[in-house]
Amino acid sequence: ITSIRSYAETLKDDPNMPADTRGRFLDVIVNESDRMTNIVQDLLTLSKFDAGSFDFTFEMFSFEKSVRDVYNATLIEARNHSHEFTLEFSTPVPEIRGDRARVEQVLINMVSNAIKYTKNGGVIRMTAGAKDGLVWCTVKDNGIGIPKEDVEKIFDRFYRVDKARSRESGGTGLGLSIAKEIAVRHGGNITVQSSLGHGTAITVTLPVGGPADA
Ligand code: ATP
Ligand code: MG
Repeated sequence: ITSIRSYAETLKDDPNMPADTRGRFLDVIVNESDRMTNIVQDLLTLSKFDAGSFDFTFEMFSFEKSVRDVYNATLIEARNHSHEFTLEFSTPVPEIRGDRARVEQVLINMVSNAIKYTKNGGVIRMTAGAKDGLVWCTVKDNGIGIPKEDVEKIFDRFYRVDKARSRESGGTGLGLSIAKEIAVRHGGNITVQSSLGHGTAITVTLPVGGPADA
């Protein structure tokens, strides 16, 4: 908010600013506004979870279509970072009972992390399938990886491995904690395997029938 305000103020004070500088300032304002909106939305989501008033809508939907939709929606961003980004289904995937928008939010977070925490020109593989009454989706990258001692902490609220780097790439450290809540409330889970300097694989698993109690 401070930077939005100061850029806006500078624009206001200098009516003769060159057009390209003005354009850059407006870009900052738009980007920072989007970032604030995301942070506020994440915080609201978490406080709703805490208050027990989360409004999940459980219905049958195609997990396969969600995976495809998220892949297609994030492909451009991956290409902007020159990543090779592929999608593969290793088995047919049944419909599941769950909150489609929330499940897609989990998948988007997994992919956007892979894009963010992999040097440009990396390899990101999205795979999905079904087994024993569960569906799963893994997003595997060959990015910076996570130190052993941090691996279990990445699902904690506000936890970021490299605070300087994460800030630069716009992270708040809430994405995976929200993803975990969503997976667990579906009766599923989200797990991580990582090797520092070599890459990370995050897997979400969800029971086909949804949570036992909903
Ligand atoms: P945001 O709230 O915008 O998602 P974030 O991406 O920093 O911010 P999380 O998605 O919760 O937060 O991830 C927490 C931390 O886990 C990240 O800051 C990063 O350090 C680490 N991390 C997550 N995914 C990966 C990955 N694919 N490779 C390396 N580190 C990762
Ligand atoms: Mg994230």
